[in-house]
Amino acid sequence: MEAEGVLEGLDPEQRAVAEAVQGPVCVLAGAGTGKTRAITHRIAYATLTGIVAPQRVLAVTFTTRAAGELRGRLRRLGAPGVQARTFHAAALRQLSYFWPRVIGGDTPKIIESKIPVVADAARACRLTFGRTELRDIAAEIEWAKVTQTRPEDYAAAVARSSRKAPTDVVDVARVYAMYEQLRRERNLLDFEGMLELTVAVLTENRDVANQVREQYRYFVVDEFQDVNPLQKLLLDAWLGDRDDLCVVGDPNQTIYSFTGASPDHLLGFTREHPDATVVKLVRDYRSTPQVVQLANGVIGQSRSETARRHKLELVAQRQDGPEPLFSEYDDEVAEADDLARRARKLIDEGVPASEIAILYRINAQSETYESALAAAGVPYVLRGAERFFDRPAVREAVVRLRGAARAGADAETDGLGLIMTVRHVLAGAGFTEEAPEGTGAAREKWESLAALAQLAEDMAAENPRAGLPDFVTELEERAALQHAPTLEGVTLASLHAAKGLEWDAVFLVGLVEGTLPIIYAETPEQIEEERRLLYVGITRAREHLSLSWALSRSPGGRRNRRPSRFLDGLTPKTATPTPARAERTKRGRKGPQPCRICGRPLTAAIERKLGRCEDCPAELNEGLLLALKDWRSEASAAQKIPAYVVFTDATLQ
Ligand code: ATP
Ligand code: MG
Repeated sequence: MEAEGVLEGLDPEQRAVAEAVQGPVCVLAGAGTGKTRAITHRIAYATLTGIVAPQRVLAVTFTTRAAGELRGRLRRLGAPGVQARTFHAAALRQLSYFWPRVIGGDTPKIIESKIPVVADAARACRLTFGRTELRDIAAEIEWAKVTQTRPEDYAAAVARSSRKAPTDVVDVARVYAMYEQLRRERNLLDFEGMLELTVAVLTENRDVANQVREQYRYFVVDEFQDVNPLQKLLLDAWLGDRDDLCVVGDPNQTIYSFTGASPDHLLGFTREHPDATVVKLVRDYRSTPQVVQLANGVIGQSRSETARRHKLELVAQRQDGPEPLFSEYDDEVAEADDLARRARKLIDEGVPASEIAILYRINAQSETYESALAAAGVPYVLRGAERFFDRPAVREAVVRLRGAARAGADAETDGLGLIMTVRHVLAGAGFTEEAPEGTGAAREKWESLAALAQLAEDMAAENPRAGLPDFVTELEERAALQHAPTLEGVTLASLHAAKGLEWDAVFLVGLVEGTLPIIYAETPEQIEEERRLLYVGITRAREHLSLSWALSRSPGGRRNRRPSRFLDGLTPKTATPTPARAERTKRGRKGPQPCRICGRPLTAAIERKLGRCEDCPAELNEGLLLALKDWRSEASAAQKIPAYVVFTDATLQ
């Protein structure tokens, strides 16, 4: 594409971002206003006009996938050759290049997981922790390192913040100090260490700094509200005394505070760069006016100082679409079944399955939806998490349940007995009556086990005579039904994993007090972060938006739930249809069965028998599936894409 053509797809404000090639630029704007689009077009414009050489640009993102998407978009705009990397990937490249000259000696081994070293450190401190606690301590160390908190300052820093340490703060601090010692002794480098070392090399070595600064002259950062203090240090080190930096972000989408990310860097940008070109985008190109109005309503009720000060109200650009649907259900199973049916209907009406998403607050909520979709014959893919029955905690618990069933643990039990027996077996896997404190791995494991306990309750309610062997069979059936990997399908994802993405139809589910806001959100700041999660969720929808909640968890259970407070005053009085439970179809398939590999409807009898198109492979492992998916999403629309390609080692390299 010609350089001028690149500008044509932009509105005047986005154009201002693209044309401000030099100097600091800050875009503070709401969801769907074209921030990501503005920066990709900006890079394309700068390189296609020849103002900037592609190899002089460094676009930094927070996830590998976002970096890949950016590269894909630039290629499609006819501007390849720009480096789009995560902070870590960019740092690692520079470190390995300068290592022999600046540091020398054995290169350290990069550790992707801290856990083995944390386990050794705990042992050296004579402290005993389980696997889940170790994971949470590793996450604490990560938080401490990205916020530049030393072990001796850790306890005070936790006390100042609203976070909860997974165990005694003094113990965490001791393990942290020992972890750092062992890491140095063993010549290991963790991800934060990689960034710290790069900062150190750049600040202590003028030659290296000059070389890097000569190489990269133009920096772009998307989702800048997510930057953490350590990443900010690195960015400053890259820039030196220059200021060709363009950042875009939305303070109302700050949902990663618990990892050390802070919107202060975005909000303080003009203080740091008083001569910055500041652009506000207000036109929302993604969503219908109906969706935009609701998003504005949710964030308009925010009590956060930031949201009030930086009013980022969205102005809808698209034509009218359907009103958002608010639905209240008796129980979660009815909610999931009805939403699976509605997803099926959308697919039958021509909405591609990959253009539909079901978003929830915590990953443990996925099981109900995986089952409902599988039963309705709707293919689905999980984003940012494993399928429920593939999660280690669940796998381990199912193994234990199978063993207990074989040993005849519940020979004499009735429905109540089933619940008790299952809880007893789960207790052996680490399940407690009370949820553990904090938000990390321990909490996530507990939530998965609680979901299994809940399944036992559902089963006991439906069939009071069910015993443990029946329950195990039910779990195995569910796992088998959910298992076949698909290439295209309805996306199941947590609200956190949905940021930056968009779909034609979005179902926001489980919108009850205790889930959104989540039960452990206590302080006003934590509640506001929960509200922002809902804002992120709503603004993912282009056209169809559904918001739902259930008054009780299980069929016939106590109706003791209340819709999320964030919906107060926004729910239309008339629109809360409660579909009759009679509509539930267990394992009932409606419409043509889709191929479990590619999701296309199966027409021939032989294909229905196989459960896949005749020309689709019988098996795809998840790794190949991801690679295939990336490949397909990057191939141009004009190009004919085969239903599948068989990858060899060479293709994957
Ligand atoms: P988020 O805050 O969710 O990351 P964003 O501000 O980055 O959103 P984009 O993803 O860049 O928004 O754009 C949202 C949608 O609007 C995309 O589908 C994009 O192609 C479209 N869009 C953006 N700007 C324009 C424009 N000027 N004309 C037409 N469509 C546009
Ligand atoms: Mg974006």
